[in-house]
Amino acid sequence: MALRKILKYPDPILRQEAEPVTAFDDELKTLVADMVETMYDAPGVGLAANQIGVLKQIVVIDITGSEAVEKELVTLINPKITNGEGEDEDEEGCLSVVDLTAKVKRFTTIQVEAQDLDGKPLNFTAEEFYARVIQHEVDHLNGHLFIDWISSLKRALYKKKRKKQLLAEQSNEASS
Ligand code: ZN
Repeated sequence: MALRKILKYPDPILRQEAEPVTAFDDELKTLVADMVETMYDAPGVGLAANQIGVLKQIVVIDITGSEAVEKELVTLINPKITNGEGEDEDEEGCLSVVDLTAKVKRFTTIQVEAQDLDGKPLNFTAEEFYARVIQHEVDHLNGHLFIDWISSLKRALYKKKRKKQLLAEQSNEASS
């Protein structure tokens, strides 16, 4: 297992769509193990493969750390949200969108189709916070970030702040 680098906005890879996984082999298992290690290290409640620069439809989730329903580690390969109901607005953040949280509207109940690490089909209902995290991670696989769903003013302010941050980082590197 190895820690992978988490890409940060505005890295263009975060805007690309992930490809479906077709081979459920050892390479996939190693990749998922790396993703899990990287997620726990961050720490985060979810990670999509895009976030470590791998354009494959893989997400890992563990919301046990939250106050929500007890849930263990979940690996979803080729996940699709086939139905959504209800609507709820709550604060979200992202390991790839540093220094920002914002309220995002999501379905409260979703139907999910995916495969597990061995390629076995999964079909289940997710609710509340778990449903929110899945929607956030599936967004990543489609090249979306939660800032796509906030007001254009807030997004513009964040872009500006990020630009400044990156410039400061560059000049720090240049002077050291
Ligand atoms: Zn995210």
